[in-house]
Amino acid sequence: MRLLLVEDDMLLGDGVRAGLKQEGYAVDWLTDGEAAWAAFTTDQFDLMVLDLGLPGLPGLELLERLRKNGHDLPVLILTARDAIEDRVKGLDGGADDYLTKPFDLEELSARLRALSRRRAGRSAPLIRNGELELDPAAHTVSYAVQPVELSNREFALLHLLLDHAGEVMTRARLEEALYGWDVEVESNTLEVYVHRLRRKIKPSLIRTVRGVGYLLEKESE
Ligand code: CA
Repeated sequence: MRLLLVEDDMLLGDGVRAGLKQEGYAVDWLTDGEAAWAAFTTDQFDLMVLDLGLPGLPGLELLERLRKNGHDLPVLILTARDAIEDRVKGLDGGADDYLTKPFDLEELSARLRALSRRRAGRSAPLIRNGELELDPAAHTVSYAVQPVELSNREFALLHLLLDHAGEVMTRARLEEALYGWDVEVESNTLEVYVHRLRRKIKPSLIRTVRGVGYLLEKESE
């Protein structure tokens, strides 16, 4: 899950980035509204955490521009505790949720899970596909009722493929969701993770779509 964090408070931004990385998100962090807008011309994000008071372009204007241009990713805004008007404007302007500063990282990640769940068209917290079950909050996976041990990146990759079960996911999209901007991706790394998921769960779990990417078939329960 690739997340764009737009926050100009260095201390807060650093803490949020570290905490969400720990949760398995690929976090890209920008401190300027214009830079964030520019990022959308080249990159695709699954979620955004947006501070409202920003240099360059204020958060509310960035949000408005994004919605006007058809970017429909879930957006959670960060506001000051007393700024009720900002919250209302933000929600009316296309934000999906908000948190007031100071906030707890656990609450932020729970809210982000709820947003990505709704985005994927689910209201139940567990993701099921055939005998496979993934719990985004507990970070656990089971197959045929047996627990499966996965690394953070393996978990993130499986989560993304499950959210898009039945759709072909391009290599670029999967790599972006796994790494964001911070690591140079070795050309075979994605294969390595796919291979491990097949080995740990079942060989036919993920189908290779030659020259395009990968697909996890939708299965009934
Ligand atoms: Ca700020």
